[in-house]
Amino acid sequence: MISKFVNKIGNFVDGDVKIKKRENSHDIIIELQNVWKTYIMGEVKVHALRGLNLQVRKGEFLAVMGPSGSGKSTFMNMVGCLDIPSKGKIVLDGKDISLMTESDLAQVRGKKIGFIFQKFNLLNTMTAKENVMLPLTFQGMPQAKREELSKKFLEQVGLTNRLDHTPNELSGGQQQRVAIARALANSPEVILADEPTGNLDSQSGQSVLEFLRKLNKDMGTTIILVTHDEKIAKQAQRIVYLKDGLIVDSLDFDTSKLMQIQEEQEKNSQNNKLKINGKSRKNWIE
Ligand code: ADP
Ligand code: MG
Repeated sequence: MISKFVNKIGNFVDGDVKIKKRENSHDIIIELQNVWKTYIMGEVKVHALRGLNLQVRKGEFLAVMGPSGSGKSTFMNMVGCLDIPSKGKIVLDGKDISLMTESDLAQVRGKKIGFIFQKFNLLNTMTAKENVMLPLTFQGMPQAKREELSKKFLEQVGLTNRLDHTPNELSGGQQQRVAIARALANSPEVILADEPTGNLDSQSGQSVLEFLRKLNKDMGTTIILVTHDEKIAKQAQRIVYLKDGLIVDSLDFDTSKLMQIQEEQEKNSQNNKLKINGKSRKNWIE
């Protein structure tokens, strides 16, 4: 039964860059257990997260919604190892990151996480190509290789003819695609996108979203996307709703889960038929 829900695992080679395609199984990649975050501002304590519990599956595309100030960015910063919780536990790929030192966190961040922000966060003095090359510099990769990879990622997001443009010579949608190419440079297992379409018109927003969906589908990259736009959120596999630092609701569109439910329903209806033909019809009616 399970094999139905598990995609094929394989390595595929693109140019001479080896990319490992990840297993799209029901393994948990991120788990939050009773996570609290309290900001102390002089005399005032702000409880941005109040005991959050959540599991994210490997290869899942999760949308997070909620009013402004409900803790969405705080949640993303915790999962992205940019900050640690005041209380509780966050397990990322089997490791408890709530106990890590700053330098361990930086390592995990560099290896596993790709960030995409509402304001793109590109360096304005650098070209698109140089912006994407930047994270590769930290990996100690030679210049020629970095350039080649940067071009490849920009090509993937449809910006081949904008390599030498600086951010202010690009539209919002194009800048966000440079930011995606930059996030891809780390081959992240998880992409955290905090309102990535918030500054874009709906068409550019949709094209950014389509790229993220493709990445999720083709590469099995786990994606967590914060959005205010229900139309965008509905394209994820699941939506969780935050309010006052807690998950107050969730909606699961995951097709494999739907299949599971349908199978269970089918099984139940067969059992019921058997029961009807047997002696337990009374129970079934009840
Ligand atoms: P959202 O992204 O849903 O708008 P945030 O996570 O940014 O919400 O903020 C949640 C709450 O925490 C808000 O009340 C906000 O004012 C507060 N907050 C966020 N970051 C800080 C910070 N660095 N210092 C103090 N308070 C903060
Ligand atoms: Mg926010």
